[in-house]
Amino acid sequence: VSIISALLDIENMGSVLISENDTNLSDIQSIVSMGLGAIIDSNDTDDKPTVLPLYEAINEDFDKLFKGNVSDYLLKKDISKYLLKLSLMLNDKNPEKEISSNDEIPDLNNMSINIITDVLSQIKYFPIQNVNLCGENIFKHPDFNNVVNKILNMNKGVILTINIGMNFEFDIFELNNNKSIKFEFVISDYSSLSNFNKVYRLTQASDNKFIFRIENNSDLKSVEDILSSNIIPNYNIQPVYNSRNKNFILSLLSPDLSDIFSRPIPLKEIYRNKRINSNTFGKLTINVDGSICSGFSQDKIGDIANLSIKECINKELSANSTWRVLRLQGKCRDCLLQYICPPVSENERYLDFSNDCGAFVE
Ligand code: SF4
Repeated sequence: VSIISALLDIENMGSVLISENDTNLSDIQSIVSMGLGAIIDSNDTDDKPTVLPLYEAINEDFDKLFKGNVSDYLLKKDISKYLLKLSLMLNDKNPEKEISSNDEIPDLNNMSINIITDVLSQIKYFPIQNVNLCGENIFKHPDFNNVVNKILNMNKGVILTINIGMNFEFDIFELNNNKSIKFEFVISDYSSLSNFNKVYRLTQASDNKFIFRIENNSDLKSVEDILSSNIIPNYNIQPVYNSRNKNFILSLLSPDLSDIFSRPIPLKEIYRNKRINSNTFGKLTINVDGSICSGFSQDKIGDIANLSIKECINKELSANSTWRVLRLQGKCRDCLLQYICPPVSENERYLDFSNDCGAFVE
């Protein structure tokens, strides 16, 4: 190790003096036999030779020398890059406490600071750029400011997912001056739009996202009205299945041929659909109790107490589970369009659309 480190030191220009004994080391002999270097007698030359070492070549060489399961090794070597979205559910409603008419907000279960610290220490050097903080009322978490600062100190951004409900707090906009903090506003109640209108006015100039959750035609009409009367460049409409709105969900999500071919489909996307589910790939959520879900909110893959984030990633990559759930269920399995069709969505976890699909091609 010390010889290789010395060789890589730019001051030495790829040439170091070693003892006669070191020339017989098997690693040194391997480097020479693969043409990555040469041993010359220092007594035979007056000038110090110069060789610029090739980092890539040396890396590949180490990979070639590895004797175990190479694909397993390569997969684990840089596995952190597959984590694309990490969400921490800071709190949720405590179902054991009935909400009385005097309570403005329900009692909350908060994620323990130990779980948060553990997760953040694991991803400190991961390339992921942002950490999402979500929950029933994230500002009521006792360590909220501390958690945000911890993430910012790791040189990562924070995305705060906030439900715009009746108890929405507006003083949070002081945080909006920090460019590393972004907001995702979730709207699911359209009975009063006063809070939405306030948020829209306050955040108009910033790059925040609006997520509209819809359960029926009336919600859809409200979203259409909002989008036609406001300029919202970054938004997402999420149909939500609630076990009573099957027909609405089917009418919206069951594709017909013109839906599927309404846009050019790149070959890359077809190839991707054969291997991974782009709706879920790379996504992990840590729940309040430390349970870990991948992509779809109900797909628990373990607990942070006994499964590390890297192990979760490895598990999802190696098994055909949530990150790789393909159109292999129901009629989709026999459909010629299975890799052209958009990937399986969370709603299809609970409802098989394929029997009602107007685009099925055998
Ligand atoms: S049946 Fe075919 S077209 Fe319909 S959802 Fe499944 S894969 Fe897509």
